[in-house]
Amino acid sequence: MGGRIKMELLKERIQKDGKIKEGNVLKVDSFLNHQMDTGLFREIGKEFKRRFDGEKITKILTIEASGIGIACIAGEEFQVPVVFAKKTQTKNIAGEVYTSRVESYTHGKVYDILVSKEFIGKEDRVLLIDDFLANGKALEGLIEIVEKAGAHLAGAGIVIEKGFQPGGERIRARGIHLESLAIIESMDEKTGEIRFRENVG
Ligand code: 5GP
Repeated sequence: MGGRIKMELLKERIQKDGKIKEGNVLKVDSFLNHQMDTGLFREIGKEFKRRFDGEKITKILTIEASGIGIACIAGEEFQVPVVFAKKTQTKNIAGEVYTSRVESYTHGKVYDILVSKEFIGKEDRVLLIDDFLANGKALEGLIEIVEKAGAHLAGAGIVIEKGFQPGGERIRARGIHLESLAIIESMDEKTGEIRFRENVG
C-alpha cells in the first residue's frame, strides 16, 4: 500500500507543477523533463519494481532523452543494465543496429530510433520505461526493436499516461503488461484542471 500513497504524491505533484500547453501537451519540466526530482524518481523506480514483481527482467530499454533519468534509477532497483534507443536523423548503419521509425508526439517529426545489436539479444527479457504515453508511437517503436532482437518483452512502465489519447488502449489490446503510474483522464488548458483515473495498480 505504501507504493500507492507515494504515487498519490506523484499525482499531486503533477497537479501542482504541471502546465497544460496547447495540443494536449503537459509540461512537467520542474520535476521530470528538465529539472529532475531524483527523490521522486527513486519512488517511481521502486513502484515499477513492485508492479513488475515476479517478472524476470534482464534489461531496461528506454528512449532518449527524457526517459533516461527515470530508466537509470529503475535500473538500480531491478539491478539490470539500462539501454536507451538513440534518435537519429541520419541513415543508420545497416546490419549493426536494430531500427524503428517513430513519429514524435511533441515535435511532430518522424525519426529513426536505433539500438546496437550488441546490447539486446534473444536471451533478454526487456522492460520498457518511458516518461509519457500519448499515441503510443514511441512505445511501439521500442516494441519493434525488442521484436527485431528476438528478445522477450516483459512489459512497459510509464510515468504519465494521457488516458484520453489512444496509446494505452492500443498497447493493452496487444496483451502487453503495461503499468502507468498516473493516468490522466482529462486536462483543461483553460482552467488548468487535471483529473486522474482512480485506483491504478
Ligand atoms: P507517443 O509516442 O505515445 O505519442 O508519445 C510519447 C512520447 O512523446 C514520450 O516519449 C514523451 O517524451 C512525448 N510526450 C507525449 N506527450 C507528452 C506530453 O504531454 N508532455 C511531454 N512532456 N511529453 C510528451
